[in-house]
Amino acid sequence: MWNRYPDPLCEKLRQELGNYVKMDPEMIAVGNGSDELISIIMKSLIKNGDRVVVLEPSFSMYSFYGEQIGLEMIGFNLDEDFKFNLKELKKTLIKYKPRMLILCNPNNPNGGVIELSEIKDILEDYKGYLLLDEAYYEFYGVSGIELLSEFNNLIILRTLSKALGIAALRVGYVVASKEIIKKIFEIKSPYNVNSLTQAAAIKVLKYSKELLERVEVIKTERERVYEELTKLKNINIAKSYGNFLLIKASNSLELSKVLKGERIEVRAFDTTRLKDYIRVTIGIADQNDRVISCFRRCFDE
Ligand code: PMP
Repeated sequence: MWNRYPDPLCEKLRQELGNYVKMDPEMIAVGNGSDELISIIMKSLIKNGDRVVVLEPSFSMYSFYGEQIGLEMIGFNLDEDFKFNLKELKKTLIKYKPRMLILCNPNNPNGGVIELSEIKDILEDYKGYLLLDEAYYEFYGVSGIELLSEFNNLIILRTLSKALGIAALRVGYVVASKEIIKKIFEIKSPYNVNSLTQAAAIKVLKYSKELLERVEVIKTERERVYEELTKLKNINIAKSYGNFLLIKASNSLELSKVLKGERIEVRAFDTTRLKDYIRVTIGIADQNDRVISCFRRCFDE
């Protein structure tokens, strides 16, 4: 039926997502990746000139879209060791009174988390929108979704790109109050998620139990890579609850060359704060072994 337009409401897919997250499908909207939803959520809920507080460092697309829409993006710095300081965040919220706060949990790029009790604490005072990006939720296992019944300014953002492994097909979803979902539907392009993607995502969700077994493998591998690399001198790794590790390596330039030579792609950063860091995504055991051996070539035990 490729001559027909896709279902603009993604009804079957929202049904499956509803089963997956155990929420009413009417509290769910689907996007062409969660990237698209970041922009749709901003456009549908806040306006030009409004302030948005984001963690610093965090996923770059929040500011990418926010600046395009004319929002004033305010960075809230994580501590030296990427720890989140609740007291300081509260001060920032009082000072700037942002219309939206974006928290990424676990946070990309360091993999650190904000406790659920801290998120609840924020919601008890903060009346703007709290966009909680849980792209890496499955690797952590703790979600703010249960807080939706208490707080209608909370918006949960998820994706099928990470643990469920269909990044190329582009499926993100948002779980929020029916009023917020209605606003999202008012501005999203009707055919933002194509039929092939909708069909594939439904299949993937039907097999989610089997697919999520891989998450356990990745978590075990993450800890193994962490252990092996922390044995090396001049390496510092942030504790991660995602499927990646943020690594501070004194001779990151040499390391990048060695990794490149082995055709291993890592994420380097051009910001001052992260210039000595690389982010390595955890793969299957022999891919990780190759990464470890590159590090051993550059750093002493
Ligand atoms: N949020 C975070 C924190 C991410 O790291 C990413 C992808 N790198 C996304 C959202 C976007 O994911 P996608 O558009 O593939 O759903």
